[in-house]
Amino acid sequence: MNEFSLIQRFFTSGGVSRDDVVLGVGDDGAVVRCSPDQEWVMTSDILLAGRHFPKATTAYDVAYKALAVNLSDLAAMGAEPAWASLQLVLPEADERWLSDFARGFYELAKGYDLQLVGGDTVRGPLAVGLHLCGGVPTGKALTRGGAQSGDLIYVTGSVGDAALGLGILQGTIDLAQNHHPQLIHRLNRPTPRVQEGIVLRDRASAAIDLSDGLVADLGHILSSSGVGANIELGRVPVSDAYEAYLQGGGDWAFALSHGDDYELCFTLPPEHAVAVQEDFASLACPLRQIGTIEPGAGLRIRQMDGSLYRSDRRGFDHFSQ
Ligand code: ADP
Ligand code: MG
Repeated sequence: MNEFSLIQRFFTSGGVSRDDVVLGVGDDGAVVRCSPDQEWVMTSDILLAGRHFPKATTAYDVAYKALAVNLSDLAAMGAEPAWASLQLVLPEADERWLSDFARGFYELAKGYDLQLVGGDTVRGPLAVGLHLCGGVPTGKALTRGGAQSGDLIYVTGSVGDAALGLGILQGTIDLAQNHHPQLIHRLNRPTPRVQEGIVLRDRASAAIDLSDGLVADLGHILSSSGVGANIELGRVPVSDAYEAYLQGGGDWAFALSHGDDYELCFTLPPEHAVAVQEDFASLACPLRQIGTIEPGAGLRIRQMDGSLYRSDRRGFDHFSQ
């Protein structure tokens, strides 16, 4: 049983079904309605030491990343952050660690007008859970389910850096030293694309944030929307550091299948392309069209010579081993 079939089998149905739940299990966040014109998006993610971040990560970076990955799910739904609840599992009450952690948390939260309103603290192996709530006008939440044949597929920023950064920390990647700080920064301090998600509310037909790898996460859009896609490998956006890794004989696996990028992947009806490109330019957010939605199921990745690239479709799955 993998992570997704486990959720599907035990937590998708069987309980209460309320009229005010607009969208339940299965997207980047749930959507609930509390008043006629306003809906709330709820999302949670847990980060476990040694699993989601190396044990040597600073307290500041642990807090920053835990918050950034949750903000990224709100971004994928087009929601504006409002409230957070923090669940901390700590091996000990280390004042210095806690003060660094609180600083990392509050510094990022301040930029998004997000208030910490509760949580829980217990002793145990280091883990950080967050539950976030953000607002969206009724009917405007972005979902994974609306992509249609002919829509254009976009990715923000670049993919693969965080996975390369982890490889560098683990000593499994050989890349010139001058690239290391930037890649490790991308691993520890992802950029949640919150403002970009809000801009997409009226335009994108589907959206997801890239936590498990482009191929797997775009795959969620395709299966939720009942469509397929064609993407061009040469258009997948990577950093100069990743280019250097490719030139040195590295492959595309980190960029396509390893995750931890926290960029947005979304689909746009072609008539919205120019307006969205202008909006993203004014937000100084890099944007790349990587392919097109097609009616036939499945994801086809074309290489420069037109041949199909065979990738590992699975992405990151906590229960695959
Ligand atoms: P993401 O990577 O965007 O955070 P996940 O892959 O973690 O999303 O989760 C997929 C979906 O399953 C989400 O809608 C999430 O809320 C839901 N989910 C995950 N675990 C549980 C659980 N234990 N009970 C109910 N829903 C869950
Ligand atoms: Mg997500």
